Amino acid sequence: MADKVLLYDTTLRDGMQGEGMSLSADEKVRVAHALDSVGVHFIEAGFPGSNPKEAALFDLLSGEAFSHAEVVAFGMTRRREVAAERDEGLRVLAECFAPICTLVGKTWSLHLEKVTRVDPEENLRMIGDSVAFLVSQGKRVVYDAEHFFDAYADDPAYSLRCLRAAVEAGAENVTLCDTNGATLPTAVADATADVVAQLGEHVQIGIHAHDDAGVGVANSLTAVQGGARMVQGTVNGYGERCGNANLVTILADLQLKLGYDCVAAPRLEHLTETAHLVDEICNVAPNPNQPYVGANAFAHKGGLHVAGVSRDARTFEHIDPSEVGADRRLLISEL
Ligand SMILES: [Zn+2]
Repeated sequence: MADKVLLYDTTLRDGMQGEGMSLSADEKVRVAHALDSVGVHFIEAGFPGSNPKEAALFDLLSGEAFSHAEVVAFGMTRRREVAAERDEGLRVLAECFAPICTLVGKTWSLHLEKVTRVDPEENLRMIGDSVAFLVSQGKRVVYDAEHFFDAYADDPAYSLRCLRAAVEAGAENVTLCDTNGATLPTAVADATADVVAQLGEHVQIGIHAHDDAGVGVANSLTAVQGGARMVQGTVNGYGERCGNANLVTILADLQLKLGYDCVAAPRLEHLTETAHLVDEICNVAPNPNQPYVGANAFAHKGGLHVAGVSRDARTFEHIDPSEVGADRRLLISEL
């Protein structure tokens, strides 16, 4: 049987960091249903306590029924020198209806030293206490290790201690974040292999990539091939700067090219429709050249290409477009 890889969508949180992105709570609920229809396992909706709009969204979501997607609330590890149970942000998460909480925390010793000025040992306690508190409140916890790949390159031992602190406190997943999006696949492969070797028996590993170096999807696939079993990304690659890893492409690649089991085949046939629907809700013009779902993904123009595709589609198409719910288009060439 093919290995299962879980899809974790952060369109409603990280995707909203993109320029010009803004959705009402109702629109976010529509996006959540679109994600559910394509088979996404986790929908990260945002931080329930950050403002009244987010609180309203969680209120709405608590009354929605999804076919199988689970809603995730996002937050941060406790503040320094504050007990976890007294930390306002963690209390909001504990009281929120979402069964899963994702906590982002520091992992990079340089970042601790230069930016946050938190003692590295206190940072480990912040991670452990925060995870343990939410677990004690009945939550399933994902630990998002911010700047993980930079941290690993700089000080691998400390970055692994951060992950271990989360695992020992009861996190069910630790996700390796390429927060700056600058890591290349070779480095992702090496770091992921080490994490899987050291912690893979005890915890599920996730990947959260950004596309600053143009390899967000490649890094996500590389991590999965190295043993990660959960992938975070956004629909159509929305997100700040160059965007998050595109979950639409990742899903099709994992399932159709690499043989992983992500979603049931009939759900994959909703992929094109879902990608376009989310663009519409977000008021984003669809990218015609987007892999798998763009209007040009299966458009053929040159006379020879058209002839080839008409005789045997495999000559110029990498998959059968119907597998992702797309249509072939034959264009008239002026040549
Ligand atoms: Zn991110």
